[in-house]
Amino acid sequence: MAEANLKPVLVSACLLGRACRYDGVDCLRPILVERLAAEGCRPVPFCPEEAGGLGTPRPAAWIERGDAEQVLEGQAVVVTHEGEECTDAFRSGADQALQICRDNSIERAYLKEGSPSCGVCQTHVGGERVDGPGVTAARLVRSGIEVLGVD
Ligand code: SF4
Repeated sequence: MAEANLKPVLVSACLLGRACRYDGVDCLRPILVERLAAEGCRPVPFCPEEAGGLGTPRPAAWIERGDAEQVLEGQAVVVTHEGEECTDAFRSGADQALQICRDNSIERAYLKEGSPSCGVCQTHVGGERVDGPGVTAARLVRSGIEVLGVD
């Protein structure tokens, strides 16, 4: 299929093989890459934590307490395991993800499950993996983007 006819979808960059995870490794999922190709999708890789200004590797981080909606509302914060706040980076990454979707007419995102940014059904709060979305997933859902979690 011609490149112009492929449907753009946002994808967590680590799922496509970029070593952008907090610990400096990737989460390549070949089955996802194959599925996107079979469905005529053009993956647009994006890492909200790197885009927000956090380097790789970086300290593990999580929503301190509450949930991603509260982070977006300014009622909760994101902290590293060392206790340093990094809320602004997470919110910036989420905003940039939405902007990329708008710029590319993207209506669907495939995001890494469990991440404090990308998690769709599960994220990290207080150092534990819990039910609920990460900050970027919540931002996209709010704006009408379909998000699918990939574990
Ligand atoms: S922020 Fe998202 S794209 Fe970046 S490493 Fe974490 S899960 Fe992957």
